[in-house]
Amino acid sequence: MGGPEIERLIELLGKLPGLGPRSARRAALGLLRQPQARLLPLANAMEQAARTVRTCARCGNLDSRDPCTVCSDPNRDQGLICVVEGVGDLWALERAGVHRGLYHVLGGTLSPLGGIGPEDLNLSPLLARLEAGGVREVILALGATVEGATTQHWLSERLAPSGATISRVGQGVPMGGALDVLDDGTLAAALMARRAS
Ligand SMILES: [Zn+2]
Repeated sequence: MGGPEIERLIELLGKLPGLGPRSARRAALGLLRQPQARLLPLANAMEQAARTVRTCARCGNLDSRDPCTVCSDPNRDQGLICVVEGVGDLWALERAGVHRGLYHVLGGTLSPLGGIGPEDLNLSPLLARLEAGGVREVILALGATVEGATTQHWLSERLAPSGATISRVGQGVPMGGALDVLDDGTLAAALMARRAS
């Protein structure tokens, strides 16, 4: 096999989600075979992303601008916030085009066993947004897992004093990072079928 540069490339690629050592070798080979067309553009895109992408202080989304593109869009319903577990869920809902309001990325779910408590979640910016007023509904789109349900329950009690309507998406939807695998129709149905929490 090749020199240390190639080994290093394969090693780093192998750390990407979804890529094992074998697919990392295949990816490296594909990139190295076309350095000008593939390897350099990818390296440049990565460098640019590393330099510009940051976490939106308002909602927790990843974007090269802060507030992010979603938060800065005046055409979105400012009174409607959809709370999701991760940025992947936000992107899935955006791709499906089923939510016309704003988002809030919680950054995880409560897990007493995993040692994740309320202080580990991105909560205070959400409370600040509710305190600032103008939010009439918060949709909780968290996982159908035990942790998701626990977080949902805890969050609806925590947010109740704000006066906003707290609703949750239709049950049986495997969210919490798994929104990605749902087709757009299912996502839309889940969001439409929300009910008071
Ligand atoms: Zn944002």
